[in-house]
Amino acid sequence: MSIAKVIVDVPAKQINQTFDYTIPARLEHVIVPGMRVTVPFGPRKIMGFVIELTSTSSHTKLKEIVDVLDLTPVLTEELVRLGQWLAKDTVSLYITAFQVMLPQALKSHYKKELVRLAEELDPIMESLFAGRDFITYEEFSESKVRYQELIKAVKDGDIEIEYLVKSRITRKFETMIKPGMADYLLEEAYNDMSKKAKKQRELLSYFIQHNEAIPKKKLMDKVNTSASTIKSLLDKKLLVSTKIEVYRNPYDDATIVQTSPLSLTTEQTDAIKPIKQSIENNTHDVFLLHGVTGSGKTEVYLQAISDVIKKGKEAVVLVPEISLTPQMVHRFKGRFGSDVAVMHSALSSGEKYDEWRKIYQKEVKVVVGARSAVFAPFENLGIIIIDEEHETSYKQEDQPRYHARDVAIERGKNHQCPVILGSATPTLETFARAQKGVYKLATLSKRTNEKAMPEVEIVDMRNELHEGNRTMFSRRLKEKIELCIEKKEQIVLLLNRRGYSTFVMCRDCGHVKECPHCDIALTYHKNSNRLKCHYCSYEEPMPTICPECSSDLIRYFGTGTQRVEEALAQLIPEARVIRMDVDTTRRKGAHEKLLNQFGKGEADILLGTQMIAKGLDFENVTLVGVLTADSMLHLPDFRSSEKTFQLLTQVSGRAGRHELPGEVIVQTYTPDHYSIELASTYNFPDFYQKEMAMRKAFHYPPYVFLTLVTVSHPNQVKVVQTTQKIVQALLKSVKEETVILGPTPSPMARIKDRYRYQCMVKYKNEPGLRDIIQNILNQFESDIRKDDLLISVDMQPYQMM
Ligand code: ADP
Ligand code: ZN
Ligand code: ZN
Repeated sequence: MSIAKVIVDVPAKQINQTFDYTIPARLEHVIVPGMRVTVPFGPRKIMGFVIELTSTSSHTKLKEIVDVLDLTPVLTEELVRLGQWLAKDTVSLYITAFQVMLPQALKSHYKKELVRLAEELDPIMESLFAGRDFITYEEFSESKVRYQELIKAVKDGDIEIEYLVKSRITRKFETMIKPGMADYLLEEAYNDMSKKAKKQRELLSYFIQHNEAIPKKKLMDKVNTSASTIKSLLDKKLLVSTKIEVYRNPYDDATIVQTSPLSLTTEQTDAIKPIKQSIENNTHDVFLLHGVTGSGKTEVYLQAISDVIKKGKEAVVLVPEISLTPQMVHRFKGRFGSDVAVMHSALSSGEKYDEWRKIYQKEVKVVVGARSAVFAPFENLGIIIIDEEHETSYKQEDQPRYHARDVAIERGKNHQCPVILGSATPTLETFARAQKGVYKLATLSKRTNEKAMPEVEIVDMRNELHEGNRTMFSRRLKEKIELCIEKKEQIVLLLNRRGYSTFVMCRDCGHVKECPHCDIALTYHKNSNRLKCHYCSYEEPMPTICPECSSDLIRYFGTGTQRVEEALAQLIPEARVIRMDVDTTRRKGAHEKLLNQFGKGEADILLGTQMIAKGLDFENVTLVGVLTADSMLHLPDFRSSEKTFQLLTQVSGRAGRHELPGEVIVQTYTPDHYSIELASTYNFPDFYQKEMAMRKAFHYPPYVFLTLVTVSHPNQVKVVQTTQKIVQALLKSVKEETVILGPTPSPMARIKDRYRYQCMVKYKNEPGLRDIIQNILNQFESDIRKDDLLISVDMQPYQMM
């Protein structure tokens, strides 16, 4: 086994392959799969992952591995396999699949150094080096020395450029002080010590009483001593200092109240039974836990995890980034204490690294985290839970474009353990699988507090307009807000803003321009003043009057939270408003701070975008208002009805969670749209039926699979030609019933001066599609490497942009 197969860190290289390197004698038996190494690659030294050891290679003249970056593998055996599966499944580079599993701190970056080879350098170079043997590349680039001079020096063999692979690991250490010898020796020393050395004697007497290590800082506080006194005793070897690693703890554990398992309701008992069986028998099954908000899903998770821990196994819990609030973390820490690690994107890179290492070193049993926590390096997984499984944040939108659900299920198979998908509004894909018996369905239909869901009232905004109210607040909503403030209760206002100003709607009759072939809203392209369908390339000019009612009030939409806030201030001047959107929550911790303020009653109204719809639980909120329920409905996205239904259901759940009854007002221009009607009665089954019929009629998932290929390049002709070639190549290889739409411009047709085109594959069964696409990508390899061409492949597109 003297040869290692290595995945090298060359992301520009489209061809997905391993490279063979020999293992030098000094690293024999050190190198194992999952380790990161430094290898020569062309003129450079770069980082790579060892994925396999072997004794033969089909290549001759192999280069040698230079060094190891880790002394123990950072990837477990299973993760090495999972990475290869992930790369294939998402048609991504192996290197990106491995990188995504590791915390940022472990992603190496390269540092260059100039190294002196000659005794004597040219005067210009000598002045730069100033007698030293090597300098950093930055020193050179910041100096006045010209590039040509450096090239000449390198050519002459005076100087060499070295690439250093450097890990960005930033561990935190703490200095500990402890006695350096046995008790009685300390006492002897104490007695021998001059009475004048008062400070030293004090310090020594402390250690005679407390024979244990203590952090240096704490010691200085406690004994009221100085660093120099400590040093004197260190020098006399009476004390010794050591460094131990400390973990940064982003959560204040002191405030966490311990909880114990609740006795389950009948519904919960029925739901958890097959899950417990699956844990007990080590079998892999996927469960859909379909339960309204407040039905006790989390309690089911907690008790299932408890079983897993009892078996000596580990648990992964995924929650959407936005609902990974302290409230949520406390529920898990309250039950499992210090056995819980938290992976949250708001943590600093060092904090993330610490949490990762707690898992890696098996110091915790449970990880609660956002999407990437699905790669937690546990080796003995007993359960994976995905809460709010319908959330699109589980899909990564960069390479590797994976969905955490797929990864969870793959790991569930690897470990023979159950995977639980929980939601009040599951995706159609998931619910359809549960209906077919592919997943096992468990339903929680009642809230544990037996309270009904809040009443939803739909307000038709077209009527408001006809009666002369041109503001964005209906009279009904205004009245309710004022009443609420009077009673000193609180209000959540949702501005459903995603995708604004892209669709065109008549403000008189609510008519929205849709594609005649796709049943999808047309996208307004401002530059050309035309409407386009980005699924099938249909287009038409922007109308000046409504084709339905001839009103000239047809226009595209645009309203931001800031404008709503201003309007609100005019309409109800006494209302205190907290605005929460991407602008006000950009700074770290801002999100939490605003919510805390609202929780403490420092405002009457919480106004915000999607981010306020999830997970919030405030006792005093009795009114939820949705300003424009339909703004998402007409996005060029076949999931827009589903997303609207999910959002409305979710935001309605924010009201009346406790003693006070809640109420919801939904403003819309399309009050009879089924997703709005059915969300207002919390009718998931009917919504599912209706939406499935639409998907079937228009050939969308879950009836077919989709793959989106997007091409981008600064030259438009090149983009069109390349996309055309890809379509041709696909047509040659796929089955006859498979449909290929495009080439067509992406809805975001130009980003950062790069033109974008796309094509969409719609298929029922194409087992070879990934290989076909990989082959096509390989054909463009040199253009991708040399000519700045980008081709991105999304095997499960959620963002059609
Ligand atoms: P979900 O996750 O479905 O929204 P939660 O697990 O948050 O629901 O439960 C809602 C509330 O009901 C919580 O306050 C929880 O403590 C409580 N709860 C859950 N299960 C039970 C039970 N078996 N008995 C009493 N209260 C429960
Ligand atoms: Zn009209
Ligand atoms: Zn169309």
